Amino acid sequence: MAKRDYYEVLGVDRNATKEEIKKAYRKLARKYHPDVNKDDPNAEEKFKEVKEAYETLSDPQKKAHYDQFGHADPNQGFGGAGEFQGADFGGFGDIFDMFFGGGTRRRDPNAPRQGADLQYTMTLEFEEAAFGKETDIEIPREETCTTCHGSGARPGTKPETCSHCGGSGQLNLEQNTPFGRIVNRRVCHYCQGKGKIVREKCGRCGGTGRVRIHKKIHVKIPAGVDDGQQIRLSGQGEAGINGGPPGDIYIVFHVKPHKFFERDGDDIYCTIPLNFAQVALGDEIEVPTLYGKVKLKIPAGTQTGTHFRLKGKGIKNVRGYGQGDQHVTVKVVTPRHLSEREKALFRELAELSGQNPIDEQNDTFFSKVKRAFKAD
Ligand SMILES: [Zn+2]
Ligand SMILES: [Zn+2]
Repeated sequence: MAKRDYYEVLGVDRNATKEEIKKAYRKLARKYHPDVNKDDPNAEEKFKEVKEAYETLSDPQKKAHYDQFGHADPNQGFGGAGEFQGADFGGFGDIFDMFFGGGTRRRDPNAPRQGADLQYTMTLEFEEAAFGKETDIEIPREETCTTCHGSGARPGTKPETCSHCGGSGQLNLEQNTPFGRIVNRRVCHYCQGKGKIVREKCGRCGGTGRVRIHKKIHVKIPAGVDDGQQIRLSGQGEAGINGGPPGDIYIVFHVKPHKFFERDGDDIYCTIPLNFAQVALGDEIEVPTLYGKVKLKIPAGTQTGTHFRLKGKGIKNVRGYGQGDQHVTVKVVTPRHLSEREKALFRELAELSGQNPIDEQNDTFFSKVKRAFKAD
C-alpha cells in the first residue's frame, strides 16, 4: 500500500504552524485511539498512521527532511531490514546474504545523497537578542571541488568505471561450503565502493572531489530570539554527494545575561532601589529600559516590593505576536552609614513616630504577625 502524505494524514496545510500540527494530531489521536474504537478494526492502523505523521512533522529536522524528500528520504523509515543498507558491507553483509540469498538491498554508490547538516552556536548580548542583528559567520564546511566539479579527476581527464566491479562498487565472492554455494558480497576494494577509479587525481582536492573551506555566511538574527532557540539556514550545510542537495545549518543561540535586566519570555524584570524618603513622600524616578530612560511616578506611601508595569517596554515577540512589558519592583534600602545630622533627624522622626507609631496599613500587618504567633 502506498504511504499517504503526512500532511494529508493530519489534514493540515503544508504551511501549517507547529501549533496547528499539534492541534490536528491531538484531535485525530483522540478520534482513532484504539481504546475508544474497539469495534473498528481500522482504527488502530489509522492511529498508527497519525502518530507516525506527527512524529515526523513535529520534529523540525525530520520535517525539513520530509519536506525535501517525502517518504523517499533515505534517512527516514530506517527501521528493520533497511538498516542493513547503512551497515558495514563486510560484516552484516555476509549474514544478510546467507539469510536472504544475496539480496540486492544495496545503496547505490553513485546515488545522490544529501550533504550533512551543521550546527553553529552563536553567543549574543542581551540587547542583540532583543533587537536582532545582521552578522557574518564563518563556517568550516565541505564543498564540491570547483576544479574537478566533484569528479576528483584532474581537469581534462575523467574517472573510469571500475573494471573489477563494473561500477557497482561491490564484489561477489563465491564460496563452496558444506551447506552449498554462498555468495558473499563485499565492498569493492579497488574503488572503495565508489564504482569509479580516478587515474589522474585533481590537484586541488586530491581526488576526493570535495574540499574543506571556511565559508562566510550572512545571517539575519530576528529580533526577540531567546536563549536556546535556533534558526535553520536551508541549504547552507555541507555539499551533497553525487549531486544530492546540500544539508542545512542550524544556528543555536546562547543569550548572555544582562547586569540589570532579567528576561522571562518576552517580559523584562528589574529591581529599583529607593530610599525611605522617596517611598514615604512619593517621587518621580527614571527607570532604564531597552528603549532608553522612562519616567515612573512613585506614589507616597509605596511599600517595598511594590511592582509597577511599563507596558510595551519588553521584548518584541520573535514570531511577531506583539511585545512584552517591563516589570519594575521597588526595594526600599535601609541606610547603613548615617551622618550626625541624619542620625539626629531620624531620632526626631522616631520620636514623632512614637506618638503615632503605626499607620493603618502597618496596623493590619502587625496584627497579622501577632495572630500568627498566637496560632502557634
Ligand atoms: Zn578536485
Ligand atoms: Zn570497483
